[in-house]
Amino acid sequence: MLFLRILEKKIALTINQAMDGTNKKNKILKNKKNLFSNKCNFIKGVASIDGLEHSNIPEVAFLGRSNVGKSSLLNAITKRAKLAHTSKTPGRTQELNFFSFGEGDPIMTIVDMPGYGFAKASKSKIAEWTELSRHYLLNRSNLRRVFLLIDARHDIKPSDEEIMCMLDNCAVSYQIVLTKIDKIKNRNKKISETENSVKSHVAVHPVVYATSSHKETGLDDLRNEISSLVE
Ligand code: GDP
Repeated sequence: MLFLRILEKKIALTINQAMDGTNKKNKILKNKKNLFSNKCNFIKGVASIDGLEHSNIPEVAFLGRSNVGKSSLLNAITKRAKLAHTSKTPGRTQELNFFSFGEGDPIMTIVDMPGYGFAKASKSKIAEWTELSRHYLLNRSNLRRVFLLIDARHDIKPSDEEIMCMLDNCAVSYQIVLTKIDKIKNRNKKISETENSVKSHVAVHPVVYATSSHKETGLDDLRNEISSLVE
């Protein structure tokens, strides 16, 4: 009799735990589906290695040459006209800017990385950028993917190649996102040319996305890709 009572209690506990787990999963799924309509907070800007804090929240980073259209794209996909405005304020342009997404507990962090390849940057600024970005990319265990932005009007530049090699060497998964695709007539050709030109890189995702923040092209695909990286 006693044995049966214990067994009953155990079964009830297991069912409760399973329901708790399902409720939690459903909550995450709902949160994930509405990732960009839900709450978003600027967490902080990090200017030096010692400002980087450990995190278990899935993270994606956006990276690209200055003027590639990174701020416009971040604002467009997150449906927040001024999100990346924060990253553009004087003093913040050289920082890693962290934004959290999700209702209640954040379920995803997006990192706006400083732009590279700016012609007028001093050697010391470039060295600072390289040190901080390298350290971040090399040591970020929760980093699910880097979205590497390339201006669709230009070919991949030596500075982009350098970044890709660095990501290959760090074994950081990255995906190419073409920006300003509204400026290109034959989009499919541009996408397949880009896919071909990067395929020798070991850590690159084989699919290239084509986006336009101005025309809102390709934004849902990119949103879905980011959401799919939330566990
Ligand atoms: P960032 O320096 O990489 O953050 O680039 P911005 O988002 O500030 O954009 C740089 C320039 O590119 C600005 O003049 C934008 O208006 C322009 N731009 C950004 N996105 C697009 C786009 O989708 N299409 C076009 N045609 N221009 C864009």
